[in-house]
Amino acid sequence: MIFTIKQEPATAHRYLAAHVKGAELLMNPSTNKGTAFTNAERDELDLHGLIPPAISTLEQQLQRVYDAFQAKAGNLEKHIYLSSLQDRNETLFFRLLSEHIEEMMPIVYTPTVGEVCQRFSHIYRRARGLYVSYDQRHHLERILKDFPNPHPAVIVVTDGQRILGLGDQGAGGMGIPIGKLCLYTLCGGVAPYGALPIMLDVGTDNEERLADPLYLGLRQKRVPGHAYQKFVDDFVAAVMKVFPGVLLQWEDFYKGNAIKQLARFRDRLCTFNDDIQGTAGVVVAGIFAGLRISGQRLRDQRVLFAGAGAAAHGIADLIVSALQEDGLGLAEARQRIWTVDSQGLVTRDRHELEDFKATYARDPGELLSYTCANRSHVTLAETILNARPTILLGTSATPGTFTEEVVRAMAAVNQRPMIFPLSNPTSCCECRAEDAIRWSDGRAIVATGSPFAPVVFNGHTFRIGQGNNAYIFPGIGLGATAGGLRRISDGMFLAGAKALAAKVTEADLAASAVYPEVRRIRECSLAVACAAIRQGVAEGLAEVSILENLEARVQEAMWVPEYLPMRYEPAD
Ligand code: NAD
Repeated sequence: MIFTIKQEPATAHRYLAAHVKGAELLMNPSTNKGTAFTNAERDELDLHGLIPPAISTLEQQLQRVYDAFQAKAGNLEKHIYLSSLQDRNETLFFRLLSEHIEEMMPIVYTPTVGEVCQRFSHIYRRARGLYVSYDQRHHLERILKDFPNPHPAVIVVTDGQRILGLGDQGAGGMGIPIGKLCLYTLCGGVAPYGALPIMLDVGTDNEERLADPLYLGLRQKRVPGHAYQKFVDDFVAAVMKVFPGVLLQWEDFYKGNAIKQLARFRDRLCTFNDDIQGTAGVVVAGIFAGLRISGQRLRDQRVLFAGAGAAAHGIADLIVSALQEDGLGLAEARQRIWTVDSQGLVTRDRHELEDFKATYARDPGELLSYTCANRSHVTLAETILNARPTILLGTSATPGTFTEEVVRAMAAVNQRPMIFPLSNPTSCCECRAEDAIRWSDGRAIVATGSPFAPVVFNGHTFRIGQGNNAYIFPGIGLGATAGGLRRISDGMFLAGAKALAAKVTEADLAASAVYPEVRRIRECSLAVACAAIRQGVAEGLAEVSILENLEARVQEAMWVPEYLPMRYEPAD
């Protein structure tokens, strides 16, 4: 590292000790202040002549970059502009993002990042993170040591096989770890130089990418079976050796593989899968807040999933844990879950049920008392009328799954049904927020996976809460780094969900929103981090001493996008 963050012994003021001078400081996004270097810094760091003579304030720089951002036509161009800003001055980049968080989160992450992954090989500009490819499998430790920071705090890793709802994007999947780590910093205050995105490149089965002469990944089919698993095992072993104590987050792995890798490694290092556990945390938080609107208890809820994949798996398991905490036994809690997939209601008499589906499969005997047109394919609407769920969750990635008939059925069996069409991107959403509100005569408590504008119905304005995982995972990352968590448990996600739900104000609820406003997301991350740490201590996964002045300590650990005074100090 060419710099160290230090504190004045007398005043405890922080400053950046630069270990090099001149152009190298301008080339490094962690040390570059562009035109904001003071005269004293320019003298000491040999910067005169390398930058124009006028000295800008951070506010003036913000004006300059926001004007340039707005001048870009289209979200992809805006994304490319922001990436180049991130590459040259990360303080300015993150300050710009935090000043315009609602406008910019969809540009640095979903939905724009989907197109970024698809077009990756055509819009590639500059190196970021690490590409760990299968043909380098005998040099994994050496590759990890190439990362300039020897002590990264958070790794986000993907193998690019299931990028959002867009399938296999091969090396283009790198857009996801990069974007996600932006949110760790923006929302959770994880220092940007501690963020390490990694692309595990094992090839791709996407024919379009393989046929593209500009494709930047390994030009081969995906490495299958045992060879793939050995590569992942060796990668994790290398991470544990080179970066002990780092948080390793799995992202956008293919469904069955995501569940398998999480189960394999969760007890060996500090690790979690956001598609499974982060999704569960944010959805359960929305349910807790929704209960404050309906005035009901969790123990009285019945939950129906449309879609029985990785997201449903994580959410269902966490709901069951929450129901158990509210007094139900395991079997009784599981009986509160119904899953419908592309073949209709999941029942135990199906052939070759995956483990997750088997856990929540219903007894076919139940169907005998049901009125169903076709017992081998019980539809979503039929399941609603028969099971009378209070909560309907959409994790099907299939647009239009929540038809008018489905929403009306939920409204027929509930005074205040919770209807969460969670699938991303917007084109995959089970229904529009407006439809859920209109078809339920304004009674549905709605949260979505994609952002939706407020809906006006019968003179009431509904703010649509977005069940964005960014309310949870940055807080877990912050908790892991600031609290020294040794492992990440499901209990931490449940604790985080409760902390997030507690951040929903009466004003939010009056606007029918089950999530806080996005501009309060750092405050939410702080609460989630503290809740995760407390839970970690309770489970013996963190030191008790961390609880002293916990909030203040965690807040102090949050990186803030502001320029620190800079001095030259040769490396020790
Ligand atoms: P997945 O591919 O693992 O699962 C999709 C499931 O939907 C499968 O079980 C499939 O059989 C089922 N399905 C397909 N068509 C259906 C239909 N017509 N009716 C009912 N079920 C149907 O995908 P996943 O990882 O579980 O993600 C699902 C969706 O959830 C994605 O769009 C993803 O973007 C979204 N998601 C949202 C959030 C969030 O909002 N916070 C978080 C994670 C995932």
